[in-house]
Amino acid sequence: MSLVLAMRRRVLHNGSLSARLAFVVVALVCQLDVAGAREAGRPNVIVIVADDLGYADVGFNGCRDIPTPHLDALAAEGVRFTNGYVTFPVCSPSRAGLITGRYQQRFGHERNPIYNPADDQMGLPLTETTLADVLGSAGYVSGAIGKWHLGAHDVFHPLNRGFNEFFGFLTGGHEYFPDRWTLRGGGFHWEGYRTLLQRDWEFVEEKEYLTDALSREAVAFVRRHRDEPFFLYLCYNAPHTPLQAPQETLEKFRHIRNEKRRTYAAMVSVMDDGVGRLLAELDALDLDEQTLVFFLSDNGGPENANASDNGPLRGQKGDVFEGGIRVPFVVRWRGVVPARDSYEEPVSALDIFATAATQAGALASIPIERPIDGVDLTPFLTGRQAGPPHDSLYWRSFDRGAWAIRTGAEKLLRPRRDEEQLLFNLEQDLSESTNQSSERPGDARQLESSWREWEQQMIDPAFLGLESIKQYRKQWQR
Ligand code: CA
Repeated sequence: MSLVLAMRRRVLHNGSLSARLAFVVVALVCQLDVAGAREAGRPNVIVIVADDLGYADVGFNGCRDIPTPHLDALAAEGVRFTNGYVTFPVCSPSRAGLITGRYQQRFGHERNPIYNPADDQMGLPLTETTLADVLGSAGYVSGAIGKWHLGAHDVFHPLNRGFNEFFGFLTGGHEYFPDRWTLRGGGFHWEGYRTLLQRDWEFVEEKEYLTDALSREAVAFVRRHRDEPFFLYLCYNAPHTPLQAPQETLEKFRHIRNEKRRTYAAMVSVMDDGVGRLLAELDALDLDEQTLVFFLSDNGGPENANASDNGPLRGQKGDVFEGGIRVPFVVRWRGVVPARDSYEEPVSALDIFATAATQAGALASIPIERPIDGVDLTPFLTGRQAGPPHDSLYWRSFDRGAWAIRTGAEKLLRPRRDEEQLLFNLEQDLSESTNQSSERPGDARQLESSWREWEQQMIDPAFLGLESIKQYRKQWQR
C-alpha cells in the first residue's frame, strides 16, 4: 500500500489526467491484491489460552463479580461459542489436541507429563505435526508465549516443534512472582514451577508479574512481525494455581469476601488487561481485520482448587461432565466473520487448527497419513454452510475409565470406570441432572456403539503422567 501512498503524493504534486489514471490503476491493483490475499486465506492467527478458567468466569458468559471488558469486547466483535469444547478435561492432553488438530488419544498423549527435562519420551510425540509446523510451511512466523506443557526435554521444546520464537516456561504451572524463580533449568516435578523464564533457549532475568510479562511479550511479537503473516500461541497460566496476584489488583477486588475467589478474580483481571493491550496493538497496527483471534480455556474450572465457577455446568476439571470440557470460547475475525451474539452448534478446540490451516492455505502441509480431526469453522460462521460442523464429538480419559460422546443435543457418558452410563439431552438439561439411559436404552446403545467405533482408532497412553508420580520416581530414582 506504500506504493499507493507514493502515487497519491505524486498525483497531488502534478494532478495531470494520466497521473490520476495511473493512481487509480495502481490503487485498484493494490486493493485486488489485498482482497485476493484474504480470499486465498492469509490471516494472522492468534490463539489465546487461559488455564483452568471456569465457564462462568468471563463477562460474556454472565460473570458478575469479575469484570472482563476486553474479553467481552472480543466476544462482542466476534462470536461466542456457547457449546465450545476442549478434547480433554486437563491441561496437557487438551493442548496436545489443540496444537495438532487431532484427538490426542490417536498418539497416546493422554496424561499430564511430569516435568523432567531429562526425559525424551514424556511429551508431544515427535511423530506429530503442530500448527506452527504447518503454518511455517506456508511462510508464517510462529511464536509460543507462556505455558508450554508438551514436554520439557529439548526435543519437545517449542523451537523444535515448529515455533520460531519462545518466551515462557516448559512445565504445567508456574509461580507468578519473579523472586520465586530460582532454577536455571534442570529440576524435577514441581521444581519446574520455579524455573527462570526462557527466551528461546536462554534463561532470562525477569522483573514483571508473570501474566504481565507474557502480555508484554505478546504485544512485542505482534509489533515485530506486523509485516509478515504470523501465528501467536499465547498461553497464560492464569488463573491456574498457585493463586498469586499483585497487591494493587487485589485491592480492586476487596468486595469479594472469599480470599481464594478474590485472588482468582485479580488473576483473571490481569489477564483480561493483557488481552486488552494485545487487541489495542492489533488495532493500532491496523491488523485487526487480517487477524483471526481465538480465546479459550484449556479445560473447565477446578472449582475447589482455584475458586473458579463453571456456572450451571455439572462437574469440573478432570470430569467428562460439561464442567470439565465445555469452556469459555470465542473467535473474532473482523471483516470476514460477522459479529453475532453466539453460535450454538458444538465446536471443538480441534477446529482451531483446521480453521487456521485452511484459511492460511496450508492444508497441503498436513501429512496425509496423520489427518486432522477438526473442521474449518469459517463457512459455518459466515453462513455459507448450514448445519452442525460435527456429527459427534468424543472424549476418553483412560486412567479414570471415563468417556463421553455428544451427538446433536444428546450426550452419553461414563463418569468413571465401573460406574453406570448416563444419558442426557443437553438442550433440555444443561446441568446433566436427569439421567435418561433407562428410559431410552436404544439411544444409549446407539451412542455407545458410535463411541466404541471412534475408540477403536485410539491407542493407549504413551507415557506415565502426574498421577503415576510414585512409579515414575522409582524409574528415575528421584
Ligand atoms: Ca488447565
